[in-house]
Amino acid sequence: MKDHHESTDHPVDTGPADSGRRAFMGVAAGVTAAVVAPGVVLHSVTAAPRSEAVTSDVRWGLLIDTAKCVDGCSACVEACDRENGLNLQTKPEGASQGHWDDQKAVWIRKVKLQDNQTGRVTNLPMMCQHCENPPCVDVCPTGASFKRADGIVMVDRHTCIGCRYCMMACPYKARSFIHKVMEEQLTLVPRGKGCVESCNLCVHRRDFGQESTACVDACREAGHEAIVFGDLKDPESNIRKHLAEMSSRQIREDLSLNTGVRYSGI
Ligand code: SF4
Ligand code: SF4
Repeated sequence: MKDHHESTDHPVDTGPADSGRRAFMGVAAGVTAAVVAPGVVLHSVTAAPRSEAVTSDVRWGLLIDTAKCVDGCSACVEACDRENGLNLQTKPEGASQGHWDDQKAVWIRKVKLQDNQTGRVTNLPMMCQHCENPPCVDVCPTGASFKRADGIVMVDRHTCIGCRYCMMACPYKARSFIHKVMEEQLTLVPRGKGCVESCNLCVHRRDFGQESTACVDACREAGHEAIVFGDLKDPESNIRKHLAEMSSRQIREDLSLNTGVRYSGI
């Protein structure tokens, strides 16, 4: 298996201020803004965050159709970077590009698999698999790594002590460590030096009632529709209908983690 970090250059990124504004507007549908004084903008948000508790009635997940995942496309990676402010990370002065590429936080990456016998190549996006029985949670000494009732596995940055046990325990290399102070960041997705983080299924979107994720939207906009998001417990959901129609697998099924992310065509 070859594991490629695709390019994380972001030609459509328009800078920190625009990224923050775009993310804010994306979540708070129905935002209105008024200029109250030169340089001061008052935002009024009409879309409210969820008021009811998260329940285990739903289990969020992703289905990736590898037959539709295109070699060389990194739309999902770039969208995740923009959505979560990962594109605002800056290379430390003096660090080599190669060292920085290995160190910077990445929540989703493209992986290329090659069958050595047939030469067949398969591309797939890889992110936190949102395991039902997550090893990262088992080993976390502070409880910072946790699983929500709706199946989303995430990190509480207030209690993460940066020990990185979870990074060692994760079989999917899904977690990243923030090595340096972030000069610029999004209010929606704050991050701090010394914390571990990973894909959280765009949890801020979940909690404002949005129905998709940034990677799913970007893949569709790129014309591929290789990723489906939805409730694995709802027989009427799109993801369940797709799963009923095609065979799918968990990566490292042998570990019995019952992942929330499934792949077809591998
Ligand atoms: S994929 Fe890794 S980080 Fe995500 S839940 Fe599983 S063990 Fe934890
Ligand atoms: S679900 Fe959201 S956080 Fe997870 S990989 Fe996709 S865009 Fe990134």
